[in-house]
Amino acid sequence: MFYKSTRGGAGSVLSADAIKKGIAPDGGLFVPESVCKLELEQIGNMVNMTYRERATAVLKYYIDDYTDEEIEECVENAYARQKFEGDDIAPVRKLNENVYILELWHGPTCAFKDMALQILPHLLVNAVRKTGENSRIVILVATSGDTGKAALEGFKDVSGTEIIVFYPYNGVSEVQKMQMVTQEGKNVHAIAVEGNFDDAQNGVKAIFTNPELNGLMALNGIKFSSANSINWGRLLPQIVYYFSAYADMVKKGDIRLGDKINVVVPTGNFGNILAAYYSLRMGLPINKMICASNENNVLTDFINTGRYDSKREFKRTVSPSMDILISSNLERLLFEITDHDSNAVKGWMEQLKENGEYTVDDNTRRKLSKLFWAGYTNENETLKTIEYIYNEYNYVVDTHTAVGIDVYDKYVISTGDVSASLIASTASPFKFNESVARAIFGESEIEGKSEFQLLDALSEECGLPIPQGLANLDKKTVIHKGVCSREEMAEQVKKILNI
Ligand SMILES: *Cc1c(COP(=O)(O)O)cnc(C)c1O
Repeated sequence: MFYKSTRGGAGSVLSADAIKKGIAPDGGLFVPESVCKLELEQIGNMVNMTYRERATAVLKYYIDDYTDEEIEECVENAYARQKFEGDDIAPVRKLNENVYILELWHGPTCAFKDMALQILPHLLVNAVRKTGENSRIVILVATSGDTGKAALEGFKDVSGTEIIVFYPYNGVSEVQKMQMVTQEGKNVHAIAVEGNFDDAQNGVKAIFTNPELNGLMALNGIKFSSANSINWGRLLPQIVYYFSAYADMVKKGDIRLGDKINVVVPTGNFGNILAAYYSLRMGLPINKMICASNENNVLTDFINTGRYDSKREFKRTVSPSMDILISSNLERLLFEITDHDSNAVKGWMEQLKENGEYTVDDNTRRKLSKLFWAGYTNENETLKTIEYIYNEYNYVVDTHTAVGIDVYDKYVISTGDVSASLIASTASPFKFNESVARAIFGESEIEGKSEFQLLDALSEECGLPIPQGLANLDKKTVIHKGVCSREEMAEQVKKILNI
C-alpha cells in the first residue's frame, strides 16, 4: 500500500515513511492511495478472534511493508493485558436494546488516546529501522492534557526514543498534571510552560523549525518526530476497534452479521470519527456516523451547512478534550469524499489559514450529509445526561461520552431511527471526576473537595474501583518539576538532549 498527501505534492511513499514523517512535506496529511475492502465473511471471521488478532488482521492491509512478525510484535507490545487491565481491550457494554457503549478507556491513562498511543511508538521505531534511519528519535508534544500523558506512557522505555512533553502550567486539571509529573521511565520528560496551551503549542512548532537547534541535532544524530493525531500511525489503530465492536455485537447476538449500525463519536480533532468513516469504506455495515460536539460546535455547523467557520469565541467546557476550533483530520475526509481532489482540498485549507473559513461545493456538502448527522450539547445538558444515565442505568459516564449520548438522543428525536447504535466512550468517568461528581452529587456536595477526594467519593457511590492509572496519584513522587517560559523551551530541549 502506498500513501500520498492530501495536498498532492508528496508523491507516493510506503507506510513506514508516512509514519516516520507524520505530516507530508507539502503540509498535507498522508492517506492510503486506496481503501481495502473486506467481504462480510472476513468480518464474520473476526467474531472469534481476540482484540490483538483483530488488530493484526486490520493493520496488515495498510502497512504491508511491515512483516507479519513486526506487526504482531507491535500489537503484542501495545495491547498487553497488564496495560489494559485484562484482555477486554475495548469492551462493548449494552445500555439498552438499541444503545451500546464502546469503552475505549481501559488503557494506562484512562482515555481513548491510549488505543493509538500505545502502539504508535512501536510502529514508529520499526519505521525508523525499516527506512535505514540511524538517528535517535525525539518526540516533542504540546498537550492540553490527555495526549501528553498517553504519549509519555506509550513511549516510556521504548529504546531509541526520547519523549519531551510541554503542558500549560495552569491549563490542565490536577489529575492530568499529577499523571504527567509522576511519570516514570528512563527517556521521559514533562515540563510546564508559563502560559496557555497555545503558548506551548506555538513553542513546540517553533522548535521543529528552529535552524540552530536542527543543525545541532543533525550533528548529534538526533531527529524530531511528532506523535500528534495527524500521524497515519495514530489513525490506523483506531479503525480496529470499530471492527472489533461490531464483531463483539455479532458474537453476543445483539445484531446479525450484515446488519447496519449507527456510530456516535464525541469529536474534537476528527480522528476518532474518521476511523469510523474508513471502517465504513472498508465494508463495515455502518448506517450513519453521528458527529457529537460540545459548545465549540464548528463541526455541527459545517456538516449541516457546508461552511467551516472557525472565527468564533473559543469556549472552555467540561469536555476539554473536545475544545477545538480547527479539526485537523477533517482534511483527510474532504480528500476522500472529493475522490482525491487535492486542488480543492488545498484551496480550502489555504482559505482556512488566511480567512479562518471556507465553504465546500454542493456536491461535497450532499456527500457529507449522506454520511454524517451532527449535533451539539451545552454544558448543562452534558451534566444532566451524566445524572440521568446514572439514575436510569446505574452506569457512570464521563463528560465527553455524555456529549455523545445527548447528541445521540437528539438524533433519535429528529429522525426516529432506533436501530442499534454504538456510542464511543472516550474517557473513564474518573478522569474528569470533578464534573462527573458535580453531576451525580450536586454542587454543594463537592464544594471544597480536591479532585483526589472526589475520586474516592465517586468510587464509593458508584461501587467502582479507581483505575490503576489514577489510584494513589496524589501520593506518588513528583519526578518532573521543571517550569519554563515560552522563550526558554528550546534551551530546555538542548539541556535534556545534552547538545
Ligand atoms: C481526544 C479526545 C476526544 C476527541 O477525539 P478526536 O479524535 O480528536 O476527535 C474526545 N474525548 C476524549 C476524552 C479525548 O481525549
